[in-house]
Amino acid sequence: MIAISNDFLDRYNRAGPRYTSYPTVPYWDNAFGEAEYRQALQTLSQRNDDALSVYVHLPFCAQRCHYCGCNATVTTHESVVDAYLDRVEREIDIVMDVVGGTRHAVQLHWGGGTPNFLTNAQMQRMYGILERHFTIDPRAEVAIEIDPRIASREQIQFIRSLGFNRVSLGIQDFDVMVQEAIGRIQPEALTREIYNTCRECGFDSVNVDLVYGLPGQTRVTFERTLHNIIELSPDRIACFSYAHLPNARANQRRVDVTFMPDHYEKFHLFQMAIDGFINAGYDWIGMDHFARHDDEMAVAARECRLHRNFMGYTIRPATDQIAFGMSSIGDMAHCFVQNDAKLGNYQKAIDEGRLPIVRGMRLSDDDMLRRRVITHMMCNLELPYNLTIADFGASVPELLPDELERVQPYIEEGFLDVEPDRLVVTTLGRFFIRNVCMEFDAYLGQQTDRPLFSKTI
Ligand code: SF4
Repeated sequence: MIAISNDFLDRYNRAGPRYTSYPTVPYWDNAFGEAEYRQALQTLSQRNDDALSVYVHLPFCAQRCHYCGCNATVTTHESVVDAYLDRVEREIDIVMDVVGGTRHAVQLHWGGGTPNFLTNAQMQRMYGILERHFTIDPRAEVAIEIDPRIASREQIQFIRSLGFNRVSLGIQDFDVMVQEAIGRIQPEALTREIYNTCRECGFDSVNVDLVYGLPGQTRVTFERTLHNIIELSPDRIACFSYAHLPNARANQRRVDVTFMPDHYEKFHLFQMAIDGFINAGYDWIGMDHFARHDDEMAVAARECRLHRNFMGYTIRPATDQIAFGMSSIGDMAHCFVQNDAKLGNYQKAIDEGRLPIVRGMRLSDDDMLRRRVITHMMCNLELPYNLTIADFGASVPELLPDELERVQPYIEEGFLDVEPDRLVVTTLGRFFIRNVCMEFDAYLGQQTDRPLFSKTI
């Protein structure tokens, strides 16, 4: 465990992006609309042989957890889901009409919300719609997020039979008091049963999601949770920092902040997770993920081949990512696009024959360069000086000399080691990697009317 003082932590605990994209969403343009999106899709249509990553957002949940930061919609009616799937099907038809033909997919991800809120018939329908438009590569990562509370043995078997080969189980914390504090009661026995069923069904990868910094978490409770997770032995673990943003997320106003660990304690909890998982044979991946030492993701990270997109870390990314459903984000032909996050607006746009895009951005060459630098650092914890993009044909020191000057204090602080051909992020620097990346961000500080970012810790 790294010993750092509270003063040190305060100095670097700054609000900043998690860099799931660069430029980050708050700086995308509301004027980037359907015409621009269609243009990007047409570019894709000219690259027929290129494989795609495909994301589908399935926002429904039975109830809203207090801590939730996702774009989720509560419903109890199957018909609401059917009506949504009608619109997603229509959206896919419109988009694929422009893209043309059946496309090859190397990554397919259903996120939410709670994708397994769908009935088997609804899941079959959704999968069938995708199969009509995409040929799913036999080696594709076909992943789904699962809420164990509403899963059953029969449902998991069905999901596997559809073609999914990866599952992520939402656990967050095993402690009952914490579960009560976040409005998500999930008996441990039930989680274990669903986990074991996933194993029996032969998924290539069974992963779990944890959250640290939740109300009610203490060193004692978290130690128990970590112990139980390690005992389960998932292939990969995502250990997310809880971002408390009650002004942007009304449901989080139900979180009793008096029970929330402060950021010093939160930092300690995260370090407990790192130590626990590393001692149990996992590699620490990127900022907050862990994978078994022999998992292909851990191997890719050691070989600096890891990538990251809106679906998370991946080793088999397509150049272009196409996304469907409310709030979903696509990334294609050097453009980002985002759909409307309000269910009613999303559906209305589709009913009117419009694509439901609300913002986007066409990346400049400078954006592409900085994106490459930031993504590579976030994934592979190094900045090779020869990391170039084709159009520039020059090295990082030639292209970004001011930025390299600005990271000097981080070198002196011990966040970065200097090697002849690159900067390497140290163990201490991993905790503050967002701070380092922020020095390469050309947009931070510019005015935006959208909610900004959570703090580093
Ligand atoms: S945390 Fe998951 S299950 Fe809970 S409301 Fe959010 S998306 Fe739904």
